[in-house]
This record gives sequence, C-alpha cells and structure tokens, in this order.
Amino acid sequence: MKKILFLSSAILFTMLLTSTRWAAISDATHRWAGGTLSYLKMAQLYAREPDQKLVMPVHTIRVEQVRDSWHAPRDGERLHEGQDIFAKRGTPVYSATEGYVVRVGETNLGGQTVSVLGAGGRVYYYAHLDSYAPDVAVGEYVTTETVLGYVGTTGNAKNTPPHLHFGVYTPAGAVNPLPLLTNRS
Ligand SMILES: [Zn+2]
Repeated sequence: MKKILFLSSAILFTMLLTSTRWAAISDATHRWAGGTLSYLKMAQLYAREPDQKLVMPVHTIRVEQVRDSWHAPRDGERLHEGQDIFAKRGTPVYSATEGYVVRVGETNLGGQTVSVLGAGGRVYYYAHLDSYAPDVAVGEYVTTETVLGYVGTTGNAKNTPPHLHFGVYTPAGAVNPLPLLTNRS
C-alpha cells in the first residue's frame, strides 16, 4: 500500500514538474506579484500631494501659444473640460507628469486616448492621438520624458486641425490645466 502511495505521488510530482501547466502557474504567480507591486506603487502615488506644475505635453509648443479653451461651450450642454493644444500632426505627446498608464483605448469623443494616474489620484487625459507610442501599455511607469503618442485628429476632432486634447481630473472633477502648465525648456 505504502509503495503504491509513494509511486503515485512520485508520478504526480513528475507530471507537475514536466507539464506545461507548471509554466502557467509560475507565470500567473509572477503576474500576480507584478500586479500587487504596481498597486502598491499606485497607492503611494495616490497619497502624494498632486503636482502643482505640469510639463507642456506637446513637443515644441510653448504655454504662451495655448489659446485658453477651458469651459468653452461644446455640442449639447457640454463645456470643454480641458485644453486643446494645436500642433502639426505626428508631433510627439509626452506625459505632463510622473505616473502610471491606467488606460489606453478608443472612445467616441476622444478617439485614441491615453490616461495616466499621477500624484494625488489625479488622472491626466490625452486625446485625439494619431497613434500611440510603440510601447505604451496599461501599468507602464511614465515620466515627463516618456512619449505617450502623437498629435492627431481621432474621435470628434476629425474635422479640426490636429491637436491634443489635454484634461486633468481630480477625484472631485475636472480642473483647468492651463494655469498649471510650464514650458518644457
Ligand atoms: Zn478638446
């Protein structure tokens, strides 16, 4: 009886070691550890004071060139909850802050968009992108040196000159990004 038990557990052990399942289990554990780590980092970021200065996200554009479009009336009863920063199609869009990419995806209004979670739980929203930076992905840590994508006309900007729609959302709602923006250099 003992011998059978020993044999069967040996077989089971060998099967576990050699099966492809093992790779899947170890991969899942690895992903779980990575996920937990980024949750911790995000919690730390959340606890920090929000950035009082944002770095101009659009390459080569100066803050003085931005025509204030905060709360400009839009279709329906909507007010414009951000700033439109005009630039040539394909101009690189950098993150305005340090943070973590929390969303990469398409919406009707925003077209191709990237959202970055920054200090104080603020979310920075980059919309109408022509394309994404090749390695931009949810969970990626970004700095003001990270390119997120390129200026375009996707979403409801398809009949406008190329621009970045830049939004800043605090846990209490949208705030005007313009007073916070500083020049890149
Ligand atoms: Zn806009």
